[in-house]
Amino acid sequence: MNVGVLALQGSVAEHLKMIKSVNKKIVATPVRTIDELAAVDGLIIPGGESTTLRRLMDDFNLYTPIKERIVAGMPVWGTCAGLILLADRVEGETPYFSVLDVDVKRNAYGRQIDSFVAEGDFDGMYIGMVFIRAPQITRVGDGVKTLAEHDGKPVAVRQNNVLATAFHPEMTRDSRVHKYFCNMIEFKE
Ligand code: GLN
Repeated sequence: MNVGVLALQGSVAEHLKMIKSVNKKIVATPVRTIDELAAVDGLIIPGGESTTLRRLMDDFNLYTPIKERIVAGMPVWGTCAGLILLADRVEGETPYFSVLDVDVKRNAYGRQIDSFVAEGDFDGMYIGMVFIRAPQITRVGDGVKTLAEHDGKPVAVRQNNVLATAFHPEMTRDSRVHKYFCNMIEFKE
């Protein structure tokens, strides 16, 4: 299995390290080109700054190939800024990939200084959740499953092959959410 991490900006090295720690046999690849994208079985869109990531994906001609792979069923996981890029609706902005039936509001938890760590249940696992200028999911569509909540609001969601978390599992030492994503790729479950 080859898991790609979009490597234009943001927490790339952390995701690659976590994927490798799930299982040594899994290959983790930084993705910057169309050829690198073609070689992966799933893609992580990391946290960073969604406006910068948008611009860089456009510059690297990655929008259409990534969108086509997602629509064709490739598992994709967006963390934080990645969630914003996957959402169908972004308050005050045009959506980007528009492959996840949720509404999001950028920086809804406040400024950098308001970043925080919480704990909670993710699909039956008790995990730590690191929020860094995180977006809030303000509405979830019918076909979307909520996997984790914080303060009664969804912070991890899944719609078929699309997984999104408002928080950063790659900033912890716990690779179980990465394992969950690898299972999405391996077992299509
Ligand atoms: N605040 C960033 C944005 O709106 C997301 C922050 C992050 O990915 N940690 O794009």
